[in-house]
Amino acid sequence: MTASYTKYVHHGKVVFVRKDLKGLHQKFCLCYQCARFKPGQPDNCEIAQAVFGNCVKFGIVTPLWECPVFERGEPQFAPADSPIPPVVRPASIL
Ligand code: SF4
Repeated sequence: MTASYTKYVHHGKVVFVRKDLKGLHQKFCLCYQCARFKPGQPDNCEIAQAVFGNCVKFGIVTPLWECPVFERGEPQFAPADSPIPPVVRPASIL
């Protein structure tokens, strides 16, 4: 099978993606079923925050498939007008 690709602007960069996988990141990313995931908030998971910072830095998308500290639960999303940018990275645990 030969995949088809498309490109669009994400995090301010033109990126390439397989057409059949575009937009599926949240469906597969473990963070979206994790109670530690609090994007845009000061107590967001440090791993998720670091991965997101890397995505913004390089213009990539990185769904998390495996994690040693996953905690099944509802993520807590900050309000859209949160003063804390989601790329602010708390002290590193890595
Ligand atoms: S603990 Fe793991 S799965 Fe949960 S938000 Fe952090 S990186 Fe994602």
